[in-house]
Amino acid sequence: MELIVARNREDLVKARGGGEVALVPTMGALHEGHKALIRQARARADHVVVSIFVNPLQFAPNEDFSRYPRTFEADLDACRAEGVDVVFHPAVEDMYAPDRQVSVSAGRMGELVEGAARPGHFDGVLTVVLKLFNVVQPDRAVFGQKDAQQLALIRRMVADLDLPIEILDVPTVREPDGLALSSRNRFLSDDDRRVALALSRALRAGAAELTPSRIRAAAREVLDTAGPGLDVDYLVLVDPATFAEVDDSYEGMAVLAVAARVGATRLIDNVSVTLTRA
Ligand code: AMP
Repeated sequence: MELIVARNREDLVKARGGGEVALVPTMGALHEGHKALIRQARARADHVVVSIFVNPLQFAPNEDFSRYPRTFEADLDACRAEGVDVVFHPAVEDMYAPDRQVSVSAGRMGELVEGAARPGHFDGVLTVVLKLFNVVQPDRAVFGQKDAQQLALIRRMVADLDLPIEILDVPTVREPDGLALSSRNRFLSDDDRRVALALSRALRAGAAELTPSRIRAAAREVLDTAGPGLDVDYLVLVDPATFAEVDDSYEGMAVLAVAARVGATRLIDNVSVTLTRA
């Protein structure tokens, strides 16, 4: 089957195959993490749509929208190799009318942690994801645990707005040395990359402990000794459904999440930890 590239809703209607459809939303510059999502989509649906759209709404004016890597031809090759049926690649003007007014509010969770560091980011994410859901009309959509707060907010949106879409998630794909794959990793120099390893090392050190205070302390210690190239934005241990910080009385799954700047590149990572009270 030929890979179809769709630019707008009409193209998508024409390209729509029979059976169940799974959507994999991405911003392109595809790597093995995205491929893991595509494989999950293929395993769980007859027809796979990958969207490639660098969404201006989720970038603040001081962020890297214009610098964000765009590798469309290589992305098409990757999609072909993974058996994707349709790539949806709209232009910004196709997605957003100049007179648009209505958007999605991510609510309280959207203002915590990553949302506190990037005000308005999650409103932009949820708005584009809802639009992609409406244009593609998938039965399922696949997201990475790498963006744990995004995943939690998408699940919240599906529940709160009664969206008839099943959300699937995929564990974070990492380099052999632990670095979480990210489209932004290509901006890291060799030195930056060494410094960036402190993120996954800190998460592993935290996950080896048993109580929230010790988990935070162990991870913080690794970050504090990583050297001058690392500028930590936050390190938090949160309830994965609400992104509220947990205390020592918390039981169940928690997410240890970190964000840091390495040189000019901002990276995020997280791991899940299970807390049982002693
Ligand atoms: P992005 O193109 O960075 O917006 O990511 C598109 C989707 O791929 C999101 O659902 C991400 O969570 C997911 N993703 C990004 N990096 C990884 C990774 N290393 N492992 C698994 N999923 C990922």
